[in-house]
Amino acid sequence: MRDPEPRVIRLADYRPPNWLIETVDLDVRLDPSATRVVARLRIRPNPAGEDRASLVLDGDELGLVDLALDGEKLGANSYAATPSSLTLHDPPRRPFDLTIETALDPSANTKLMGLYRSSGTYCTQCEAEGFRRITYFLDRPDALSVYRTRIEAERDEAPVLLSNGNPVEAGPIPGTGRHYAVWHDPFPKPSYLFALVGGKLAAVEDRFVTASGRAVKLAIYVEPGREGRCAYALDSLKRAMRWDERAYGREYDLDVFNIVAVSDFNMGAMENKGLNVFNDKYILASPETATDGDYAGIEAVIAHEYFHNWTGDRITCRDWFQLCLKEGLTVFRDQEFSADERSRPVKRIADVRVLKSNQFTEDAGPLAHPVRPETYHEINNFYTATVYQKGAEVVRMLKTLLGERGFRAGMDLYFTRCDGKAATVEDFLGCFADANGVDLTQFKLWYSQAGTPELALKGSFEPQAARYRLEVRQMVPPTPGQSAKRPMLIPFGFGLLGKDGRDLPLRPVDAGKISDGILRISAAEETFVFEGVRERPIPSFNRGFSAPVKLVSNLGEDDLIFIAGHDGDPFNRFDAASTLAMRHLVASTAALRARKAPPSPDALVSALARSFDDDRLDPAFVAQVIAVPGESDIAHEIGSDVDPAAVLAARIALKRTLGEKLAAHCRKNYARFASRAPYAPDAASAGRRALRNACLDLLVATGAPAEIALARRQFDEADNMTDRIAALATLAAQAVPEREQAFEAFEKRFRGDPLVMDKWFALQAQIAEPETLARVRALMRHPAFSLANPNRVRALIGSFAAGNPSQFNRPDGQGYAFVADIALELDPKNPQVAARLLSFFKSWSALEPVRRAAAEAALKRAAAAELSADSRDIVGRALA
Ligand SMILES: [Zn+2]
Repeated sequence: MRDPEPRVIRLADYRPPNWLIETVDLDVRLDPSATRVVARLRIRPNPAGEDRASLVLDGDELGLVDLALDGEKLGANSYAATPSSLTLHDPPRRPFDLTIETALDPSANTKLMGLYRSSGTYCTQCEAEGFRRITYFLDRPDALSVYRTRIEAERDEAPVLLSNGNPVEAGPIPGTGRHYAVWHDPFPKPSYLFALVGGKLAAVEDRFVTASGRAVKLAIYVEPGREGRCAYALDSLKRAMRWDERAYGREYDLDVFNIVAVSDFNMGAMENKGLNVFNDKYILASPETATDGDYAGIEAVIAHEYFHNWTGDRITCRDWFQLCLKEGLTVFRDQEFSADERSRPVKRIADVRVLKSNQFTEDAGPLAHPVRPETYHEINNFYTATVYQKGAEVVRMLKTLLGERGFRAGMDLYFTRCDGKAATVEDFLGCFADANGVDLTQFKLWYSQAGTPELALKGSFEPQAARYRLEVRQMVPPTPGQSAKRPMLIPFGFGLLGKDGRDLPLRPVDAGKISDGILRISAAEETFVFEGVRERPIPSFNRGFSAPVKLVSNLGEDDLIFIAGHDGDPFNRFDAASTLAMRHLVASTAALRARKAPPSPDALVSALARSFDDDRLDPAFVAQVIAVPGESDIAHEIGSDVDPAAVLAARIALKRTLGEKLAAHCRKNYARFASRAPYAPDAASAGRRALRNACLDLLVATGAPAEIALARRQFDEADNMTDRIAALATLAAQAVPEREQAFEAFEKRFRGDPLVMDKWFALQAQIAEPETLARVRALMRHPAFSLANPNRVRALIGSFAAGNPSQFNRPDGQGYAFVADIALELDPKNPQVAARLLSFFKSWSALEPVRRAAAEAALKRAAAAELSADSRDIVGRALA
């Protein structure tokens, strides 16, 4: 169905539902192409709603088979049914039962929303608006109901039948090959948290005893034969359950917790109450098939979905504008879990890298929106870096401002006050304000103002007065729909380093604006003065990346080198080195475009050499320090008139120089961290591999035959995927025969494993050479590739569009045309995945004129086509 006109939904228009659905009794008879769903809804008027309202239930591509009210078939003129809605013109003004029968074709459901079949398994995805593709319903997050679900299927086809809540009964249906199972979820929930699974699945089981002594049965369901790859996911789940008890006092609340891994899935995973459904990429891992990054991702996503049980399920969102309430908060919780399980500084650095690459670029382009948007056309397009990652930063700032105890007091109040409710950002902030007796009015701007705030910092030392003055100006840039901004409340980690590298005591003249090394910046222009400063200090700004802001400071190269070598805050040591690298890359890009010689990177080289030489540093940390910023990050830093070819050339030149000048350090560390022990995915082992592979990457960047041979040897001899794929990635950047030989060998070895083949597709799609577009087209014909599978599309087409800036942004426009063509082809089948591809055009307006015109032409061509609501929304905003 295509809407004639795009609908606009506004936060300001929110009204409570006119009707409440107390209970939902579902009877689902599964069949590959003719599934029948009978929904018996106990409905009553909502006292908070309008009087005399008709009852309008949402639908999407639905076919009504039967309709009865209190058991009586309804007359044709008392209701109107279309594929997208069911209206009862004059429903009773008392509680009544409405029984709706719908017919579904799960095999034909290529949108992967609602009920669909994935490799023979029936499964559902209902967030945000998929339940309305199963039955007519009040498909909105503030309509909470208690669900009882009966599922029936051919026993041979679907021996496992799962739904939310606890199992009630199950058994054969005599005289048929069919069987059934009944599930009951006692916790009222919105329809987006409904889930159902049926299939031939194998279970890996375990049990967990909660802090209060209740035993919970845990199970992960996978395609038979893959049971051996679930151990890490299961272990992560148990650690996450224990952590949430310890960190937040939150226990699990049902008798069972089930996870199902499916191979066709639009998202990462889904937190359906008691029955999480996962993209199998975030479950399956073995040393031979998964990298350290995959293991860390599994741990984080398992924890994230589990943590939603309280922040999302028990307390849900009133409406989709409040999406950050569950997502930002839960990302923050999973980040903290990983930080506790691994290295906290390294986790912070990794999270900030992702934030800057994804969210800062989104915030700077036409798709920028506030953490809590105020309008949307299509909610599927708001599962964004801003809602998730900036949303998490906002919660982190709240914790920084209130302190550990104050934050926990606010969370405790939130869990008691809002349990069982559909809450808003106001409800959430109200708990922190009440628990701490503080006013969070200015802080709330973080939810409503889009754009990355910029801080201009000017520090000056007054030796006679023994004072240090810090002048701060803040500016929030204009974003679509928001031209004028108000000053934000910014918690700003700050310190002054003495000559010996140690922190000088901070003695602020105005003590009210600073505590525990955190300045509270709240005005457009402000000056902070510190007394008793007897030597010229070096300031350390935004320690721990305490606020998601951009800095412009008068720190010189020497200051940055000093910070990189001495700051007590590990994040800022990393950040100083990264700033040196970025300054060099921006200057070098400009020089290359002007056909001048690039500047010398000597300052950076000596800073990196010092990190290498400091044996006290965690190898994982050093690996982050020596990693050269990515092309998209450099482009974002340049900001406008970007030439991606010049950016690429500057980056290649810097890596080559670093590989040459730091060769001895790299060889030494490569040898030092070689391991004969069997692979283990723990953070310390992963950190040693990360540093070793970062060294290999710089060595191979020199293009020297001996280094290429070293990479080839590592590729051949590796006993784990981390080392094998790292070697292949370094070779992929070199146009040498070893590269093609390694790709061939990899394909031969892993062609039967789709998740591993995704890595193979992704690496080839990211080769920064003009021939890559033809290579990607050819790979689309590979038997392991399928446009119908979202993981394959992301691996090949997504990696090309998002991970290969110089080739996606080819000056001839063919990269844009290709991605737009694929999006248009996919759009009728899976609009969500198509819209995601189109969102990779998010930075087009920052390009130099030739590419900008080509990108605009591709977007306009897409805009002229017949598009889904999802894709039309993205294209419309990108062009606005
Ligand atoms: Zn989530």
